[in-house]
Amino acid sequence: MTENTSAAKAEKLVAVKGMNDILPPDSARWEWLEEQVRSLMARYAYGNIRTPIIEHTPLFIRGLGEVTDIVEKEMYSFEDRLNGEPLTLRPENTAGVVRAVVEHSMLYDGGKRLYYMGPMFRHERPQRGRYRQFHQIGAEALGFAGAEVDAELILLADALWKTLGLTDVRLELNSLGQPEERKLHRAALIAYFEQHADQLDEEARRRLHLNPLRILDTKNPAMQELVEGAPKMMDFLGEASLAHFNRVRAILDANGVAYQLNPRLVRGMDYYNLTVFEFITTRLGSQGTICGGGRYDYLVEQIGGKPAPAVGWALGVERVLELLKEQGQGLPVNQPDAYAIVPDVNALPIAMKCLQALRAAGVRVQMHAGTGDSMGSMKSQFKRADASGAGFALIFGPDELAQNQVTVKSLRDGSGAQTAYSLAQASDWAPHLQSRS
Ligand code: ATP
Ligand code: MG
Repeated sequence: MTENTSAAKAEKLVAVKGMNDILPPDSARWEWLEEQVRSLMARYAYGNIRTPIIEHTPLFIRGLGEVTDIVEKEMYSFEDRLNGEPLTLRPENTAGVVRAVVEHSMLYDGGKRLYYMGPMFRHERPQRGRYRQFHQIGAEALGFAGAEVDAELILLADALWKTLGLTDVRLELNSLGQPEERKLHRAALIAYFEQHADQLDEEARRRLHLNPLRILDTKNPAMQELVEGAPKMMDFLGEASLAHFNRVRAILDANGVAYQLNPRLVRGMDYYNLTVFEFITTRLGSQGTICGGGRYDYLVEQIGGKPAPAVGWALGVERVLELLKEQGQGLPVNQPDAYAIVPDVNALPIAMKCLQALRAAGVRVQMHAGTGDSMGSMKSQFKRADASGAGFALIFGPDELAQNQVTVKSLRDGSGAQTAYSLAQASDWAPHLQSRS
């Protein structure tokens, strides 16, 4: 018989550029972080919301603003081939949450506190801390006008850094005022930048009359000095806006949350007003913003809902995890408690019944996997047990099974101590397997 050996080996397929696989053991960090977040959100009475990854493109254009980095150059937009609908992979999730809140009339009986976790998509140049598929965790409080909710959200983020053990994070704070105040500031900005038109880069010149606030957010180092001297929003705030800002500050002060006022902080989306803030670290280079947010009191009506105030933030999961690694935080413990050694395939039914009982009792058990006919030598199974990091080996040998027992051997404390336990009473001795500290 001749075999066709000339057929080319199938070409290796790889992930899309800027989109990462998250693999064990690193994925344990992700799960750990998500658990911390869930537990914390529950303590602040925020409920989980899950919206689709794809939305109608106009949601983002209307929501984020036409003249923003995201809408101008970062969205993955496409036409649904089946019906021609313009769709977009969500670049952020505030717009989607607001869409869902409006669609389901969620504010009919009062404000809602919500949080989400999930992938976002932006067509950016991939580099450390900047990916094309990345993950955000966000908290949004809709239907609340008071400064206490702005402060609550900042306290929540601050508590999260403490829970995670993040240090080297600073908080920057600003107020963008209200639309009428913004109009005056906008006029002053245009006048200022027109005076210095020769120092504007191409993008800034294009945005000068479309969205001058965006110029303040420029990443061009050559324009930093110019931007530094620009009229400050803070000087255009009326009494009510100032009072709101001062109430936020007073709550942060009382809670010992330090912050710096940054009059240049404007955030990348058009929907913000009043309080805006960012948590920044100096340890991740120019990708140092780990979390950003603010108030967006006009987005709900812009998306077709009855006017309702709102405030929220989003953090970048990759950047937070990167920062934790940078600080030298180790991997969370995720080795199994026990590793099951089964010399003979015929012992599998009885052995696996016992493992099921142990797992039901909360023990983390890894099963040795054989080749089909054979489970492999005892020596090779013990090698695997050692490599797994398990604290104990469970040995389902013929002598043990003849007495309806299993031998539990300690792998970690150097004693090699062995004890025989009854197969039938697994839940009684299960806690012994979890005793490793
Ligand atoms: P940057 O100024 O770094 O581009 P941004 O202002 O565009 O950030 P937001 O839209 O405010 O970011 O998103 C909130 C958080 O999400 C950011 O602070 C960051 O931690 C994270 N983030 C944003 N874009 C990316 C990306 N492309 N890759 C990884 N994380 C990101
Ligand atoms: Mg960006």
